[in-house]
Amino acid sequence: MKYISTRGLAQPVDFEGALLAGLAPDGGLYVPAETPRLTDEDFAAIADAPYWRTAALVISKFTGAAFDRAKLEKMARDVYGRFDAPETAPLTKVGDEDWILELFHGPTLAFKDFAMQLLGAMFDDVLGRDDQRLTILAATSGDTGAAAIDALKACANVNIVVLHPRGRVSEVQRLMMTSVDAPNVMNIAVEGSFDDCQAIVKQLFADEAFARAVDLGGVNSINWARIAAQTVYYFTASAAVGGGPVNYVAPTGNFGDIYAGYVARCMGLNINRLVVAVNANDILHRALAEGDYSPRGVKPTISPSMDIEVASNFERLLFDVVDRDSERLRALMNDLAKTRALRLSDEQRARIAADFISATTSEDETRDEIIRHQRETGALIDPHTAVARSAARALRGAGHLTGKVITLSTAHPAKFPDAVTAACGVRPKLPTAHIDLMSSKEHMKTAPADTDVIKQMVGDFAARKP
Ligand SMILES: *Cc1c(COP(=O)(O)O)cnc(C)c1O
Repeated sequence: MKYISTRGLAQPVDFEGALLAGLAPDGGLYVPAETPRLTDEDFAAIADAPYWRTAALVISKFTGAAFDRAKLEKMARDVYGRFDAPETAPLTKVGDEDWILELFHGPTLAFKDFAMQLLGAMFDDVLGRDDQRLTILAATSGDTGAAAIDALKACANVNIVVLHPRGRVSEVQRLMMTSVDAPNVMNIAVEGSFDDCQAIVKQLFADEAFARAVDLGGVNSINWARIAAQTVYYFTASAAVGGGPVNYVAPTGNFGDIYAGYVARCMGLNINRLVVAVNANDILHRALAEGDYSPRGVKPTISPSMDIEVASNFERLLFDVVDRDSERLRALMNDLAKTRALRLSDEQRARIAADFISATTSEDETRDEIIRHQRETGALIDPHTAVARSAARALRGAGHLTGKVITLSTAHPAKFPDAVTAACGVRPKLPTAHIDLMSSKEHMKTAPADTDVIKQMVGDFAARKP
């Protein structure tokens, strides 16, 4: 299995290369040269398999020689055994043909655990084979950092450094990162915004000498291994509702989760529509509905993990939309970099519309959905899930969605207790495994939003003797 860069100027790599590199050296994103398909026997096997076995089956289509099926079964059984639901990704019926797919039963209570936990196991295995080390550097607005730290804290061959904007993540999100006391973990609270953190990370990756000296690696959502791991729950959920066609609705930020649904569809899963549900940061909705992909500045919302402007994984979809012509893709991306805008033609928009529809949910609608869900079912949903549920309801009401609809629930409500309580007056409780969190001792350093200062800190950390 070979992986090619969307920008076409990098050498193809195998799965291991894509896993360790994250971003391709030409600035593009790796995609499989050919998308694998599942056979009829594969679908039959999935129908009554436990989650971990389906995970190994699906992911083995991507891994080539790097991990065989038996190895993946062992890893998947181990990592998904850490989830606090026996089904790993359980479905709750909320209407006649409506379900919520609960993706928040992992160690840090958000869907990012699905991919990150497996990524940790993969890194450890690959790096252990020839005793390499890797220093993972990530910027987070909350969920990614916690998921990455939990997944990598026990990895013998990985250091992990996470930058978060000081005072701008929820208390639960911060504590999930800073309560971890492990010699290979460093949290840095940066005096700045998430964009500042992200810019510093990008500059350090672009500093080739530094990146080589500390063996810098990335775990953000452009890593193909994360996409591969996220395709799995589309297969298990469709099987659990008796097969397709199924519509999926995902609260969308970086276009990773919903893109994984598109990949599942390309692999042969019977999916009707994929719904891109966004908050007030509606660049993807404007792109799909009007062809206008232009950033207008990030607005803070009560669903902060989706407060993103340029959705990295969208490039992978655009690559297919231009018939995998790297030159045309590069022209589009250069336009975006130069003019800060990208116009999709009617033909390009029509091609996307064959698979996707989009909707935007306002802050008021998000709060109303939390209230309505609590009143109708007695259960609480987090603000990200509410963005998607509201979109699902509106689109079904308008006749755009018919038949089975599964809405992805990406975080536990107790991860965003203030927003949930403010909306509906009921305070969500943390699962018992986390009850000590609020009184944990914290481990973090603070730093100005200064690339040189942080470069020094990361360099010293990577160079220390374990
Ligand atoms: C990251 C995140 C999202 C957005 O997922 P993408 O893959 O970036 O589209 C939605 N909800 C929650 C809770 C998240 O942490």
